[in-house]
Amino acid sequence: MANYVCPACAANNPEPGTCILCGKRLGSYRRALGAALLSSLLMSGLWMFFTVVVRLQFPLVACVFGAVVSYCVLHFSGGSGLLFQCIASAFTLIGIVVADSASLLILAVLDGKVTLDRLSLEWLWTDMGYRMVHDPYTILYYALGFITGLFLLRAS
Ligand SMILES: [Zn+2]
Repeated sequence: MANYVCPACAANNPEPGTCILCGKRLGSYRRALGAALLSSLLMSGLWMFFTVVVRLQFPLVACVFGAVVSYCVLHFSGGSGLLFQCIASAFTLIGIVVADSASLLILAVLDGKVTLDRLSLEWLWTDMGYRMVHDPYTILYYALGFITGLFLLRAS
């Protein structure tokens, strides 16, 4: 397991909890992963609700997505700094891309553009890969989610 480097004084701590030098909370990576996973699942559900049920996709949801995941990581793990930021940002980006692809796929089925027998995980996989690099909206969404979640880097 990685060492816990204090974001405030850069001391190397062997264990999570509080910094041996300055007493700042160091946070727990396990809790950070749990919080990031749960909050990104929750936000993905919200994303799919807006896209499929309300039929609206708007950048605000992406902004909220990143902010909520980072907030949950900070709140439940007590950690901030680069590694915690990476955890929150990774879950935000993956969550947005998966939720975006999955909900557009559901829409395509509902609208009869894709028939169920043609659906496969490979289809979803290809669609996600395509969207990540070619769809300007997806790129805008995960850029926004990433930016609004960035505060973990400097949070204390
Ligand atoms: Zn410290």
